[in-house]
Amino acid sequence: MDRIVIGHIEQEMTVPTPDMDLDQKLFVQVDQAKCTGCCICMEYCPTAAIYGETGLAHTIVHPEPCLHCGMCLTHCPQGAFHEKFSWLPEVEKRLEDSSQIMIAMPAPSIRYTLGEAFGLPPGRNLQEKMLAAIARLGFDHCWDTEFAADVTIWEEGGEFLHKLKNGMALPLLSSCCPSWVRYMETFQPALVDLCSTVKSPIAINGRLAKTYGAQRYGYDPENMYTVAIMPCLSKKYEALMPALENNGLRDIDAVLTVREFAWLLQKRNIDVNNMPHGIADTLMGESACGTLFGIGGGVMETLARYVHKALCGKELQNQATRRLDRASGIAELSFECCGQTLRMAAVRGADKFAAICEQILKGQSPWHFIEFMACPGGCINGGGQPLLPSLRNTVLLGRGSAQ
Ligand code: SF4
Ligand code: SF4
Repeated sequence: MDRIVIGHIEQEMTVPTPDMDLDQKLFVQVDQAKCTGCCICMEYCPTAAIYGETGLAHTIVHPEPCLHCGMCLTHCPQGAFHEKFSWLPEVEKRLEDSSQIMIAMPAPSIRYTLGEAFGLPPGRNLQEKMLAAIARLGFDHCWDTEFAADVTIWEEGGEFLHKLKNGMALPLLSSCCPSWVRYMETFQPALVDLCSTVKSPIAINGRLAKTYGAQRYGYDPENMYTVAIMPCLSKKYEALMPALENNGLRDIDAVLTVREFAWLLQKRNIDVNNMPHGIADTLMGESACGTLFGIGGGVMETLARYVHKALCGKELQNQATRRLDRASGIAELSFECCGQTLRMAAVRGADKFAAICEQILKGQSPWHFIEFMACPGGCINGGGQPLLPSLRNTVLLGRGSAQ
């Protein structure tokens, strides 16, 4: 299968389909000829899914333990990993088809990282320029995943309050990171009953687009094509899950990473730096605090604010205690609420999952809610983001070419 280089990563142009056996698929793989056997990928792989001896070419043999997080791919100094699937050919075709209602669904973190693919320093917020670039590409609507993140918190907050008020088993475990859910189901199935039943923001977004959005605009859902723009490789896996289908229609038709989205913009000579300010869609284009989902601890923070307001009728402000333990990778937030102390935690990095899961299973978890994010620091450092400049330079030097 032919490959192209996108954002310094080699990518096969195989379009994935929902009928493929997800359990047997790898979304990243190693090129044996490029791998020098430095073992750096093994340090970043949280589940020891990569095999190989020092100095010899490595490989991922079994799909089962791989969380599809892509940390191996974004940290390999040789650029020896490649992505196996891309919806780009299909998205390009649909953008040219005037019968299609094209819906863009950008993740919270991508407005802060897209600029890196256009030479801007990390952290620049390109919200309005991103909206204009999406419209220039030919999308009919941008129904923002930040809006859907707000919906996630209404639902998850309600679930939390129900469990708390009825003395049901806690902690409630977050459900929005597909790599975490895959880890839990594979390695810690005894915890499944503690996990939130709420869908992730993109799953909610896709379904809302083809129901609520379709009704409001009078669209036939059959003609709608939803494209989630994500910081994440694992969201490609999530989008293909059998459960994300309703009456034969996929909730999410395609997922593009930030790298792929930037490549598409560049191919069409759309320089995001020079875009005018776009305007958010009035239907599902605005959000109260969904943007916080883009960083580790953001789900915990928004849930804490929701719960405090619901129980005490007041905003959660400086009365909360926040603490980050860098050694354990745990961020904590605690606050007094109606005579009780509520404690929440955020686990930032899949290498920390095992210890926290053990603690829960032993009944020693002090927390009422735990957010789990597979990527260190959360989605802002996801496997689909532009490569860090330091690594990008190393990969380029290794290849001896620029892209
Ligand atoms: Fe390991 Fe993640 Fe790479 Fe899979 S994608 S091999 S879990 S680092
Ligand atoms: Fe994807 Fe975010 Fe989970 Fe990383 S932390 S695997 S970017 S959802």
